[in-house]
Amino acid sequence: MTTVLIVEDNERNMRLMRLLLRPLGYDLLEAVDGKQALATLERTTPDIILVDIQLPDVDGLEITRRLRKEPRFATTPIVALTAYAMPGDREMFLRAGCTGYVAKPIDTRAFPDIIAAYLHDGATAPTPEGTKPG
Ligand code: MN
Repeated sequence: MTTVLIVEDNERNMRLMRLLLRPLGYDLLEAVDGKQALATLERTTPDIILVDIQLPDVDGLEITRRLRKEPRFATTPIVALTAYAMPGDREMFLRAGCTGYVAKPIDTRAFPDIIAAYLHDGATAPTPEGTKPG
């Protein structure tokens, strides 16, 4: 069973990702803020983590930085979800330890394949665009 943790405070985005991923047979875990995410990650090691950058408490980059300090998350793909992909943001996400990012609004047709590609490639192979497949 492939476990996906989604960290997202926006209910509509959470519902959308749930609708897109659940039919594919993933075991979905959900967290609506950083605290909840970190608590979940104390007891589980998902196969992939999708983390919203803007959260009400601990932001997505800080969560990523903390996780990358733990050997248990060294090879886990961590994908930033961001509504504001400005020039330079990709570098900022990668520096924090993200594998890449998915821009919001989410492209519903591409999203499942993007997640599958990250699961396949692991933590260390971001494309130049920061998303995959191209
Ligand atoms: Mn948010």
